[in-house]
Amino acid sequence: MANTYDYVIVGAGSAGCVLANRLSADEDTDVLLLESGIPDEKAEIHNPTMFPHLMQSEVDWDYSTVPQEGLNGRKEYWPRGKTLGGTSAINAMMYVRGNPWDYDRWAELGNDGWSYDEIRPYFKRIEDFEGGESEHHGEGGPLRVEQEHPYGEVTNALIDAAVEVGFDRNEDVNAGQQEGMGPLPLTVKDGERQSTAVAYLHPVLDRENLTAQTGAHVTRIEFEGDTATGVTYVQDGSTYTVDAAQEVVLSAGTINSAQLLMLSGVGPADHLNEHGIDVEINLPGVGRNLQDHLVASSAYELLGDPEIEPGEVLCQVTGFERTSPDLLAPDLQYFLARVYFMRHGFDNPEEGAGMTPSTTLLHPESRGRITLASDDPFDDPLIDPNYLEKEADLEKLVEGLKRTREIGHASALEEYRGEEVWPKGEVESDEDLREHIRETVQTIYHPVGTCKMGDDEMAVVDERLRVHGLNGLRVADASIMPQITTGNTNAPTIAIAEKASDMIRDLE
Ligand SMILES: Cc1cc2nc3c(=O)[nH]c(=O)nc-3n(C[C@H](O)[C@H](O)[C@H](O)COP(=O)(O)OP(=O)(O)OC[C@H]3O[C@@H](n4cnc5c(N)ncnc54)[C@H](O)[C@@H]3O)c2cc1C
Repeated sequence: MANTYDYVIVGAGSAGCVLANRLSADEDTDVLLLESGIPDEKAEIHNPTMFPHLMQSEVDWDYSTVPQEGLNGRKEYWPRGKTLGGTSAINAMMYVRGNPWDYDRWAELGNDGWSYDEIRPYFKRIEDFEGGESEHHGEGGPLRVEQEHPYGEVTNALIDAAVEVGFDRNEDVNAGQQEGMGPLPLTVKDGERQSTAVAYLHPVLDRENLTAQTGAHVTRIEFEGDTATGVTYVQDGSTYTVDAAQEVVLSAGTINSAQLLMLSGVGPADHLNEHGIDVEINLPGVGRNLQDHLVASSAYELLGDPEIEPGEVLCQVTGFERTSPDLLAPDLQYFLARVYFMRHGFDNPEEGAGMTPSTTLLHPESRGRITLASDDPFDDPLIDPNYLEKEADLEKLVEGLKRTREIGHASALEEYRGEEVWPKGEVESDEDLREHIRETVQTIYHPVGTCKMGDDEMAVVDERLRVHGLNGLRVADASIMPQITTGNTNAPTIAIAEKASDMIRDLE
């Protein structure tokens, strides 16, 4: 293996696989992709129905938060993918761009080039959309996006129930208008998961100018003066240092990109000093601005053993709603699953079938942080999302939870609905609902924001994703989002990586 590459990409996740593909498209460029996890050979990765089996498996970092005061002191489980494809190899495959307002807001914060009109071409470039090319969608891109899955009778009844309680139908949540209830686009092709490893990396692994290493855990970024010159990594117990003639690109995700910067002396100086780490540059925003989506659910027994259609996906309906007409974008997202999904599935009843209407808080006011537990690169960092610190977050979830119960109790579901399993017992008052939320709410796995893009004192990267104050170092993954998007975060992360690759190659 060579010792010098043009680009060294850290992390082969949602973003890293995209970058490996796009940067190595230039034959005169040598690219090294370093992934801490194992190859994506596990059969359960590729079978969409097996996604719950990936939790706490060997392809999951299996993180947990510190105890969360807002969740009655509970520690929350945080899965993250540790394999080629990263978290796109273990996620629920939902493909949601977010709201045009998200990107316009990023641009308004001073990030030129990130308005929706400017990022939309990148979304189109990603897609091989089942519905074909249109003003809103791309065709022929690397990532297959399908949403025409057959609906069984229960899924149809769930949609009817939502319409009965006031939701409009929305046949395409990625066409700019998110409100209403309708099909959930999925990154699935021919019944198999489309991780970014499958869609972007494997098809180009035979390029001579691309080297991908698994089991390669990057432990620090190397610097000469204020220029990043390469990285050090550990593989099979040996330590290697490789040089990046052009750039190091961090795509290790919201937790590990921030951790790696801090381990390398890039972060809040006082915190680095606490751990005896030499400060390369004081960037107080590294690890801060952590935002995540929480999901609260009601759940019902499903009666009558209704049939599942061949090819039916068990959570294929989503919807968006604004709790106030003054809001510029929806603040609650709904999922209607014709299975139990209670606290990561860990609290599902052992017997019987269920339905789980759930609600996600899209724009939390609470902000958390990632900090180092020690200067050991193999130690987990401390994850403190600071869930529900702001009362407004809890109150919005109460509103959303009431909506899920309206859906659950709608007459359209009469034939199928058994006992309400969640919330448990006599739960009627707002205080009862708050307590149910504190006891049961879970992450829907969308942490972002710990290396935020911007030009204020807490920003970590500029609008071209270059780390402030340093040369030869960018971050391109979910961590750069200044504000979390209105929906699931995989598609936005892939678009960020697509745009980053053009910026790195000076194509825009
Ligand atoms: C269970 C689950 C379900 C989800 N469902 C959905 C969904 O349905 N739809 C959706 O849009 N989003 C979903 N998400 C979220 C979405 O998948 C993530 O937002 C997205 O994958 C983040 O991409 P990333 O590139 O920032 O990080 P990742 O994809 O996590 O990539 C980071 C990569 O870096 C590697 N790495 C980390 N540290 C190092 C190191 N020191 N050295 C080398 N390599 C390193 C990791 O192993 C990983 O491969 C889900 C997440 C989870 C956990």
